[in-house]
Amino acid sequence: MPAPAPSTAPPSGESFDHELRAAVSAGDFELHYQPKVRCPDGGFAGFEALVRWRHPTRGLVPPGQFIPRLGELGLAPLLGRWVMTEACRQIAAWEAAGLGAVSVSVNLSPGQLRDPALPERLRQLLRDHGLGPGRLELEVTEAMLMDAPDEAIARLRALRDAGARLSIDDFGTGWSSMAHFRHLPVHQLKLDRVFVQHVDRDRRDASLCAGVIALAHRLGFGVVAEGVENEAQAKRLAGFDCDLFQGFLYSRPLSEERAGDYLRGARITPRTPSPSA
Ligand code: C2E
Ligand code: MG
Ligand code: MG
Repeated sequence: MPAPAPSTAPPSGESFDHELRAAVSAGDFELHYQPKVRCPDGGFAGFEALVRWRHPTRGLVPPGQFIPRLGELGLAPLLGRWVMTEACRQIAAWEAAGLGAVSVSVNLSPGQLRDPALPERLRQLLRDHGLGPGRLELEVTEAMLMDAPDEAIARLRALRDAGARLSIDDFGTGWSSMAHFRHLPVHQLKLDRVFVQHVDRDRRDASLCAGVIALAHRLGFGVVAEGVENEAQAKRLAGFDCDLFQGFLYSRPLSEERAGDYLRGARITPRTPSPSA
């Protein structure tokens, strides 16, 4: 039976909380996968896994409508555990189906990053699914590093040592400190959509993107541009030597099945390892 059309009204209230708790214990979620492509040849570079709640009446609920509440209820780490496990299962399943050594990134919640058991759990998860280092990427936002940067950097280092590739998500939106920035043990920065949106039309945004990309490269980080929606944006960013693109221009997030179809048609080439920070 086709899933009902998603509601746009932001859900809230006691029954919402009750449904959310039940969904977390039952695992009523699915991951959709949005491709990242290489600049300038458009070759496939990996997926970002984005969670959706499979709601019985609302259809697929987007993360913006339930992740914040999940965090307030203290349930975000539980969902995060499900997401990481599901992503690893999927990577291994694609490989077993002959679709290549795909890498997938997942978004971490603040509670997950603070969890001292996460590096060991990650190691175990990669082992259980037979995945080598770098096949699972973790995305953390700048905001998650700001409260206690030294501690966050130590945690990131432990995750990197456990075999994860690391990205700073929504980069440029969190007032990160340059003093800490130079010590970040991450592989890449994801330039936020707000800068990408007008990069082809706004001189300041263009300068900002060019500057961030150049600085990132000098520090040994790769750069992914988020939310690339048209050719003009892509062309401008390509001129700034951006490494990877992600956005509706290339693909919307795809269901598991459609992501498999995408892989069957994708030009998968081996990923060149980026310098470890
Ligand atoms: P994000 O990690 O920055 O993910 C990118 C978001 O931008 C996704 O929205 C994606 O669908 C959307 N997007 C991608 N390309 C374009 C584009 O060209 N134009 C526009 N307008 N949007 C684009 P989505 O899936 O609704 O996710 C929103 C946010 O929810 C994510 O932002 C992330 O912060 C959070 N999220 C998603 N999945 C998870 C998860 O498993 N755990 C946690 N903790 N957070 C998650
Ligand atoms: Mg992300
Ligand atoms: Mg982002």
